[in-house]
Amino acid sequence: IFITIEGPDGAGKTSVIKELLPKLEQTLGERIVSTREPGGSRIAEKIRELILDPEHTEMDIRTEALLYAAGRRQHLMEKILPALDRGEIVLCDRFVDSSLAYQGHARGIGMEEVASINRFATNDIEPDFTLYLDIEASVGLERIHKGKADRQFDRLDQEKLEFHEKVREAYLKLADEHTERITLIDAAQELDEVVDECYKIIVEKLKN
Ligand code: C5P
Ligand code: MG
Repeated sequence: IFITIEGPDGAGKTSVIKELLPKLEQTLGERIVSTREPGGSRIAEKIRELILDPEHTEMDIRTEALLYAAGRRQHLMEKILPALDRGEIVLCDRFVDSSLAYQGHARGIGMEEVASINRFATNDIEPDFTLYLDIEASVGLERIHKGKADRQFDRLDQEKLEFHEKVREAYLKLADEHTERITLIDAAQELDEVVDECYKIIVEKLKN
């Protein structure tokens, strides 16, 4: 089973996964492969560094989109697919939806254009289901600035509120268009509540 967690910056994906993982492992009695992108494998982590280097301000937006797709492919082939083939549950922090939101909509390339390079990169492999942690852009950014979302400074931190608003707008559109795959979770709640909601949804989905 391939599960992804999505959301704008400051939604709390990383913190949620950290708490969610042991709870799920305890209930299900099996190991869950928790991974993230950009990154998740040796080559993909190098691509991540290349994309997020704060000094790489000259990076072209299509170059950026291609690098995300390339990193995604490597991570998929090396880590995600082998785990799924072994019958394991994979929980991945971000996947194609991130590129549709960030590169497709917020950067302005177009969601369909970005979807097409990602179909090439993934051979149309999609998550079984996706938890979308929804947060207003201003609240997400505020969390980051308060240092609540423990993260390092990267090139994207130079983006303005408007950029992050577009990211959220795209995610909401995706959630609306793919109700069968994507479940929206209000990430403005307390961390415990968000974790609990994610946990319940996953356990319920895995029963079916
Ligand atoms: O999720 P994480 O914090 O690891 O993402 C690292 C950075 O990459 C964030 O600043 C995020 O906004 C950015 N990003 C992006 N496009 C993606 C995925 C992540 O700009 N497709
Ligand atoms: Mg994060």
